[in-house]
Amino acid sequence: MGKKHREYIFDPQTLSYRENIVSFRQRTRRLLLSFAGSFLVALFYLWLYISVFHLELPKTTMLKKQNAQWCSKMSIQNKRMDDCRQRLEGLRERDDGVYRAIFGLPEISAAERYSGIGGINRYAYLLENDHTGLLSSSVRKLDFLRKMACVQSKSYDEVGEMARRSGDIASCVPAVPPFYPGVSYHMSSPFGYRTDPIYHNTKMHTGQDFAMQPGNSLYAVGDGVVEVVRYELYGYGNSVIINHGFGFKTRYAHMKVITVQPGQAVKRGDCIGQSGNSGKSTGPHLHFEVIYRGNYVNPLNYMDMDMPLDEYAQMVKAREEETGMTSDLIQPVHRDRKTIRRRGKK
Ligand SMILES: [Zn+2]
Repeated sequence: MGKKHREYIFDPQTLSYRENIVSFRQRTRRLLLSFAGSFLVALFYLWLYISVFHLELPKTTMLKKQNAQWCSKMSIQNKRMDDCRQRLEGLRERDDGVYRAIFGLPEISAAERYSGIGGINRYAYLLENDHTGLLSSSVRKLDFLRKMACVQSKSYDEVGEMARRSGDIASCVPAVPPFYPGVSYHMSSPFGYRTDPIYHNTKMHTGQDFAMQPGNSLYAVGDGVVEVVRYELYGYGNSVIINHGFGFKTRYAHMKVITVQPGQAVKRGDCIGQSGNSGKSTGPHLHFEVIYRGNYVNPLNYMDMDMPLDEYAQMVKAREEETGMTSDLIQPVHRDRKTIRRRGKK
């Protein structure tokens, strides 16, 4: 125990001061009481300040100011991201409409471009304290931009690869008749709508028919890979589909003999078999289709029927020398000399 605390109390009866000794416990109690009293008064003032006068504490004011600054910064970032997105959309449009189109690449579907974006649950953790929604919208936009940029960059890689191979386009795109133009043939059913020769209803004829005797050699009209080899009793009969890349495919139908395998790489002028009369056919002919990006197009736009015969023969010969696959198929079966002589003069 420390020194005893004394206090002097004025006694009005004796008109003198009387000594009073205050115990430590009393002093402590007084101290606590005065502390509690001031605390209550402080609380009362705080209540008046906030609830009655609707005033803010300095710290609240400062935080609000800071918050407003952050919000405006976030809004600016959001606007910048919108701007970035617009620019990326511009790149996407040019990519699908120009670059990919030039090289016959299919458009990238929206599902592919925007997959994995969105999903409310992914951003649930942000929503708890994000009353303005600015933060979650920013994160969402950033994710979106990242995904778009990633897909765009991959697409450019693809286009770049195609550009490097652009020299191949000339050799891949269908450009010659699928048979030696010196053989006896005539163009029977043209491409387009026609009355079906068997069912007599109007139907789209998806290719060009060349009536000719069976056994004429058929040649790949451009470089590519044999995609389908089919042997059917109906429909196309024995048929071959070659995928030339750059969006082009060709189909050779009603064949008699097929000499290629699926997956086999072929070059323009390679023999793929012989014409015939298999499948749904009213007479021996070659049904030839050109398919560009999934649509049937007029095959006559992809060949020069009047190309010099020796040029065609040279092309086939060069291929035969390279592949070592000698065939006398260049000698047309049931050759019509008159036709050849007349055509040869051109
Ligand atoms: Zn046909």
